[in-house]
Amino acid sequence: MRKAGRVVAEMHERIREAIRPGVTPLQLDAVGREVIERNAARSNFLGYHGFPAVICASPNDMIVHGIPDDVPLEEGDIISIDCGAIIQGYHGDAAHTWPVGQISAEAEKLLRVTEESLWAGIAQMRDGNRISDIGHAVQTVAEGAGYSVVREYVGHAIGTAMHEKPEVPNYGDPGKGPKLRVGNVFAVEPMVNLGGCETQVLADGWGVVTRDGSLSAHFEHSIAITEDGPEVLTLL
Ligand code: MG
Ligand code: MG
Repeated sequence: MRKAGRVVAEMHERIREAIRPGVTPLQLDAVGREVIERNAARSNFLGYHGFPAVICASPNDMIVHGIPDDVPLEEGDIISIDCGAIIQGYHGDAAHTWPVGQISAEAEKLLRVTEESLWAGIAQMRDGNRISDIGHAVQTVAEGAGYSVVREYVGHAIGTAMHEKPEVPNYGDPGKGPKLRVGNVFAVEPMVNLGGCETQVLADGWGVVTRDGSLSAHFEHSIAITEDGPEVLTLL
């Protein structure tokens, strides 16, 4: 899982370098494909329930699951990239929201707080804690900044499949759900909206947007629980 995680981290790094005004999500998908092929990995996104790409690309008010298209990104956009990889049967999964050129102070703060909420959740990933301690920490940071947390889409255990049980919600009271144990690996993935938490699926059946049109950010890592605490697998 460390190997798969490093491939995912490299995909994000190369994609981050390619993001600029004028680039299209389809071009970013090609960057991701190149990294997968060079590492002799496979994509866990391509073909998932018929998904046509190796990345999800979700701009601005799109929360998750955007199909990469040929609409150029513009200065001031934000773009959420979610991708994964399989090495020797083991899965990695991570997401980042990136700025396109210069973005508003409002958008910058949304990105910063959403990433902080992810790290607050990761800090709870210790042997003996419970699943809901993660989401409670995420929710406390996101709502503390005046934002809302998406309910319909959640994190998940990950291993020889991308989406394993149990689910990891980004909200809830602490101290509930299964106990966390050394060796567990979870994909924690807060989706945080500037406005309300309500969502809507686009006509293509994939893209999910905020119902009120407000900006949304998405950060995700795959994290193992070790005897020394959380180990983030999807970092270089
Ligand atoms: Mg993901
Ligand atoms: Mg995931």
